[in-house]
Order: sequence, then C-alpha cells, then structure tokens
Amino acid sequence: MEIVRTVEALQNIKKKLEGSVGFVPTMGALHSGHLSLIQRAGDENDHTIVSIFLNPTQFLEGEDLESYPKREEADIKICELSGVDILFMPTVDQMYEEDELRISAPARRGYILEGAKRPGHFDGMLQVVMKLLNLSTATRAYFGKKDAQQLALIIQMARSYFFSCEIIPCDIVRDEQGLALSSRNAYLSEEEKYRALSLSRSLKRATKMVMSGEREVGLLISEMMSVLKEVDRIEYIAICDRDLQKLETVESGNTIILVAAWVGETRLIDNIWI
Ligand code: AMP
Repeated sequence: MEIVRTVEALQNIKKKLEGSVGFVPTMGALHSGHLSLIQRAGDENDHTIVSIFLNPTQFLEGEDLESYPKREEADIKICELSGVDILFMPTVDQMYEEDELRISAPARRGYILEGAKRPGHFDGMLQVVMKLLNLSTATRAYFGKKDAQQLALIIQMARSYFFSCEIIPCDIVRDEQGLALSSRNAYLSEEEKYRALSLSRSLKRATKMVMSGEREVGLLISEMMSVLKEVDRIEYIAICDRDLQKLETVESGNTIILVAAWVGETRLIDNIWI
C-alpha cells in the first residue's frame, strides 16, 4: 500500500494505474462501517483508493472538529490489511487554497433535516467530495446510507455536474445490539451507548409497525418518540421518500425513516430504508 500525502504524488501514482478504481472517502477513525465500503470497493474494482481527510469546511463553528477522534496509526494498519492500494492522507493546505471557489448545496434539499440543523455543512461536504472525486478519477465511489442526505446530495451533484464516476450506496453496518457504527460513538460512555440504542430501537419499532400494515406517518412518529425517551434531546424524526421529501403515508420501497438525537454531548443520526 502506498501512503500518499500530497496531491501531486497522488496524481503521479494514479497515472501508472490501469483498470477500474474504487474510491472510499472517509474522515478516519475507521470502523467496520468504513471497512464494508472498502471491501466492496476492492471486490468490484481493480484498484482501491481510500482517503482520510478531516475536512474543516464541513464543520460548523462550535462543532467537534478539534475533538474528532484521530487514529492515524490504526487506520493505516486497517487499510493495509484490507488490501487498499493507495491511502490518501492530505493536509488541509494540500486540499484548499485561499479565496476558494465555492459549491453550494441545493436551496431546498440542502437545508432540510441535517441541513436545517447544520446550515452550511453540506456546502463544505460537497466541496470536498467534488475535489476528492476529481483527484481520484474513480470509476466508482462508495458512500454509506448511514448519511442518507449526504448520499442523496452527492448523487444529485454527480447527476448535475455530469460526473463519470458511479456513486454506489452501501448498507448501514451496526454492532450486535443494533447501534449504527460511527466514529463519533467513541465519545459515548457505556451508559450513553446503552441509551443510544434507542435510536435503532425506534427505527425497528416503526419498521415492525409498517410490516404489520401501519402506513400513517403521524402514528409512526409518535410511537418512535415514545421509544426515544432515553435520549437527551430529539432533533428530528422524519419519514421521507428516497428524495428526502416528507411523506404523509409510507410508500414501500420508497421510504427512509430518519432520526437525529443527542445523547449526552454526542449528536447521533440513524435511518432505515423500507
Ligand atoms: P465518515 O468517515 O464518517 O465521513 O464516513 C465515511 C463513509 O463511511 C461515508 O460514506 C459514511 O456514510 C460511511 N459510513 C459511516 N458509518 C457507516 C456505517 N455504520 N455503515 C456504513 N457506512 C458507514
């Protein structure tokens, strides 16, 4: 595995690669969720590139940019053992220049749900994904459904800007108890981890109700709220179609149920696709 820290070095190495490239962008502190994307990229392509870049432009003032978990040594080992060909770990200076050209998230889709709670977050996310996809010149790029709105906006960007890279949505990986894996889970104490399970439990409860024939969004949301009693604050519960537009009644095969909540000082998101 080649570890590459500059844009120029990545471009030079890329020139020598022949065949398809699968790309997995991450912010590091890798876990089995990231690993599932890396493995799929390896299975479906001749070469795998992973990036680890804690992108400052997608963090809002007062968010956890400074305290975000960093585990460079372990991350390198994980990538090595997973058969990654190129690990791109640039500095902020490598990725950004002064007075940058900006990318804006769409006015409606970018400012609902996560975008309403974190205004500007998606501008920074799209900006860095655009840069990374251009740099990797990947055949396919792999993103988790865990960040459902992020995924939807990246698919939209790829469509709007005629990217040749195919965007591949990947299933959410959970621990044995159902907690969706996230680098931010490292912030949780044991007691908080236990309480955080109510996010996935609420999604499971809603899914079960849908399976038994319930379709009314209002009823599903109020049931979810009762399951979510153990979190400290619910930010939103939303039942949307795959384009993240709110639904009145669940449409099988075209619904995502999303939840965002605080447990202690940690903000968690989760969702389920039905
Ligand atoms: P991050 O490092 O949090 O920016 O995540 C990098 C990629 O991994 C994103 O496409 C995420 O959606 C994806 N990801 C994060 N957690 C999970 C998970 N539990 N299951 C599947 N994909 C995930």
